[in-house]
Amino acid sequence: MQPWGAMEGVRPSKQLHRLLDAGKNYSEAFAFMQRHYGISQEKFALLWQVCQVERPFLLESSQPHLFSVYVGIPFCPTRCLYCSFPSHPLTELNKFREKFVEKLLFEIKATGQMTQHLQMTPYTVYLGGGTPTSLEPEELAAVIDALKEAFPGTWREFTVEAGRPDTITPAHVKIFKSKDVTRTSVNPQSMHAETLKTIGRRHSVEEIQQAVKYVREAKIPVLNMDLILGLPGENAGMIAASVKQLLNFAPENITLHIFSPKRASRYYQNQSSYLLPPDEEIVEMQKQALALLTPHYRPYYLYRQRNILAGLENIGLCTPGHECIYNIVMIEERHHILGLGGGATSKIINQDFTLTNLFSPKDVRIYLQRVEALLERREKALLKALQNV
Ligand code: SF4
Repeated sequence: MQPWGAMEGVRPSKQLHRLLDAGKNYSEAFAFMQRHYGISQEKFALLWQVCQVERPFLLESSQPHLFSVYVGIPFCPTRCLYCSFPSHPLTELNKFREKFVEKLLFEIKATGQMTQHLQMTPYTVYLGGGTPTSLEPEELAAVIDALKEAFPGTWREFTVEAGRPDTITPAHVKIFKSKDVTRTSVNPQSMHAETLKTIGRRHSVEEIQQAVKYVREAKIPVLNMDLILGLPGENAGMIAASVKQLLNFAPENITLHIFSPKRASRYYQNQSSYLLPPDEEIVEMQKQALALLTPHYRPYYLYRQRNILAGLENIGLCTPGHECIYNIVMIEERHHILGLGGGATSKIINQDFTLTNLFSPKDVRIYLQRVEALLERREKALLKALQNV
């Protein structure tokens, strides 16, 4: 039986939050979700725990004048085997990098003018992608300066994903420190050299350790590290070994992803060349990883993906008080998110709690041509959502 039963959406927590809004308690909500979807007891308990952690952040962030900013930097050193994100390998499209930064600075400034005019207040800021540290340190500094100028105020959280350890230099981390970045990530995905090679990361385990050292020395308050469970050639013992190595770094956030084959990935085009672990092994991987982590970390958000292996879910865990607020508001969709840059999604919350999604082009060349039109569409959607507030 599938652990999530008939639940098909990627955001099961949205359903439970609706039941909590209606005043349902644990047993009533479980009875409803078991009757309608056949959710397992174990997954409901996990979902309940997540929603309890999220609840205060949802209440705080669901005010119509608050918004978060997401900036997509659509470049990476190489393309990972499983990647379906809007990212270009620098080896192919580096020549557009400078023009992209120029256009992005324009988009940030224009969006800031609009939100200031509408008297809206920035809540969290998140630089993702792609890999933001694919930019040169001075380009990254210019993007952050532009964000601070366009969206003045005290941000509740400021994340700059570094992600790929092969892009993180002391100069990048110095910028994080001097520009008050509160959260960053060094994402190994696996701590096994052979797997890193298979998934096309082209960095070593030593580079992961070195990148963590830079972040720790700079005392960035929150470090996130991602692992993917179910990569070709891995087994539960290897996952346990990766988790133990991550625990030695004591990151405040650990995100456990489950491999989810995507159509747009290199893996999908060439599936017969890779041997994935069987579903039972992936379930065992998650079980062992959680057994090692939950004495120190608690789950604070989760989501599912189409084709996710073994019908499981991705889980974000944190040490108490180190939840990534952006991740929560992005998944729960009760808070405006303005997505700038390549491949970003804007989510505008309408008066009737429906959502207007606006998608920025994934291809950097198309983004360069469409920014003005995007700005117009975003302003229109926001104006409509804020009417009568
Ligand atoms: S680092 Fe992330 S965005 Fe970049 S290629 Fe790998 S999976 Fe894609």
